[in-house]
Amino acid sequence: MAVPFRKTSKSTRDKRRTHFKLSVPGMVKCDNCGELKLAHRVCKVCGTYKGREIVKS
Ligand SMILES: [Zn+2]
Repeated sequence: MAVPFRKTSKSTRDKRRTHFKLSVPGMVKCDNCGELKLAHRVCKVCGTYKGREIVKS
């Protein structure tokens, strides 16, 4: 089994982990009710998308 030649320094280890950040889902404010909603999706609070009501509540 291959073994690393050198110990990974704290600097290298921490620099690698800069890419480990969590990706936040694209949340935007609803035009209609102002609630946070997923971008490009119907608002689940008021059921509208692009100013039109899609889902009847
Ligand atoms: Zn809404």
